[in-house]
Amino acid sequence: MSSYTNEQVSHLIEGTLDWETMFRMLSMPKDHGRFEQYVAALQSKVKFEHKIVLPLGPHLHIVQKADTKTWVTMCDCGHEFGDYRENWKLNAVVYVRDTEEAMVDVYPKLMAPDTNWQVYREYYCPKCGAMHDVEAPTPWYPVIHDFEPDIDAFYRDWVNLPLPERA
Ligand SMILES: [Zn+2]
Repeated sequence: MSSYTNEQVSHLIEGTLDWETMFRMLSMPKDHGRFEQYVAALQSKVKFEHKIVLPLGPHLHIVQKADTKTWVTMCDCGHEFGDYRENWKLNAVVYVRDTEEAMVDVYPKLMAPDTNWQVYREYYCPKCGAMHDVEAPTPWYPVIHDFEPDIDAFYRDWVNLPLPERA
């Protein structure tokens, strides 16, 4: 089985690989060095000294805080979105596109969805302005908590690494 090239890993970092491909890359067995390679590349780009435990997106990570060893969700810029088990979106800046005018930025006019049935919610970091996620739910749908990864199982069964300490 071949390892991923540094170029592919850099696509991963820049967010130009889709999320499904990324998880396939990260979770394919028998190439355990890849996750460490990926996290090391991310770690070299962030502005904080906290240890990245699990990337959630190109610029958003679950980290172990250097001082307290608590795990929080954190932006590249160091902004904290709260405990890693909580929905970070509730602490993000949200921009909702729910009018035809706002949709035109995303869709050509005739292709825009009917805003009675679908809106766009964009989630931004309040400190640096990085966009961390986009949802296209029906207008009344609650804020989506994407997934709660089983981090213990991921470290034990997939990447075969010791779990970072968690206070
Ligand atoms: Zn930020």
